[in-house]
Amino acid sequence: MDNMKASKSESIIIAIAGGPYAGKKRLCNELLTRLEALSPSTKAHILHLSSFMYPEQTDRYSLNSYDIKAYKETLVAIQGGKERIPLPDGKELCFSPDRDRVVFTEGYYLLLPELLPSYTSKLFVYADGDTRLERSVIRRVCGDHEILAEVLDDFVQNAKPAYEMAIHPTRENADIILPQRANIQSALLFVSQHLQDLLEELNQPKLTSSVQYDPLHEKYMKLAHEMAETSLANREVPVGCVFVYKGEVIGKGYNQTNCSLSGIRHAEIIAIEQILEKYPSSVFSETTLYVTVEPCLMCAAALKQLHIEAVYFGCGNDRFGGCGSVFSINKDPSIDPKYSVYPGLFRPEAVMLMRRFYVQENAKAPVPQAKKQRILKHNIEQMDLTRYV
Ligand SMILES: [Zn+2]
Repeated sequence: MDNMKASKSESIIIAIAGGPYAGKKRLCNELLTRLEALSPSTKAHILHLSSFMYPEQTDRYSLNSYDIKAYKETLVAIQGGKERIPLPDGKELCFSPDRDRVVFTEGYYLLLPELLPSYTSKLFVYADGDTRLERSVIRRVCGDHEILAEVLDDFVQNAKPAYEMAIHPTRENADIILPQRANIQSALLFVSQHLQDLLEELNQPKLTSSVQYDPLHEKYMKLAHEMAETSLANREVPVGCVFVYKGEVIGKGYNQTNCSLSGIRHAEIIAIEQILEKYPSSVFSETTLYVTVEPCLMCAAALKQLHIEAVYFGCGNDRFGGCGSVFSINKDPSIDPKYSVYPGLFRPEAVMLMRRFYVQENAKAPVPQAKKQRILKHNIEQMDLTRYV
């Protein structure tokens, strides 16, 4: 399952920018908690821009106090899948190879144009000047027992101008601007939902074959899987397919050999019959088939006679496969044109469907087979793609 491993090295980096005392850290922590509740397999990390402050600098509001180059290199290292990334302040980011890589990063200057390409999403927490001043007083005077006059002076002399001159303008680069009020539950919900979508996308199995990655392949193969699920629900060997002509699904089928008591009622044949009721057979030369399992000898031959353009399939069919596993009907140089096949699309899912079927059938058999055969295995061995191309 190299494809699954590869997906774990991809990263989600969420930038949370905003002015001093806007509430960035609070938002970071809140989002992290929510994310880990939504997706327990996720371990999120927090990266503070303050880790990149030059040690000799004392003005934490000024852009010149931060080593932006080192910060950018860190973002690149995160994206590059590095497992341990040392930070200038002596801290370290440590990623687990089998966990999703999610980083919340917060700071004043995160939305500088040169940093933007590294982020998955860009948030800006907005609080007006009065709110930020009030917070700075509460935190520094009441919390840290600093002198009020000095805190006010620092705010007016340093924090306020830095915000207005350099931080506020980067707000333009945000995807989402969050108001920082006491109650921002709906905004948090919105951002959490967005994060969940990002995680789902990150964990989508990618192609294992030589096919170029294309979200449309996923879309159509998922429809084929839905058909296969119908087979499974009907106690049929779970194979499903869709035929796509110029971006439109023109036929769908799932295996129905048991219920019809006919060994030829394969998913492909059912869909082909559906198509021929509405379209001339010439459509097939511009039609692509997505099928969860490699077409059998019979279907592979039928597809060849119909001049199918291409076939994408999930797992191979070691007993009856007609597209490379047993015979290569698709490559046969006889009268009908050859067609290309692309194996391995959502293969682990296709294999698991078949296993679920056999486990279910064994369990329902009048004399159940030995117990060990009823266990649903999850390991998926590599596929030798060279057989098919
Ligand atoms: Zn077949």
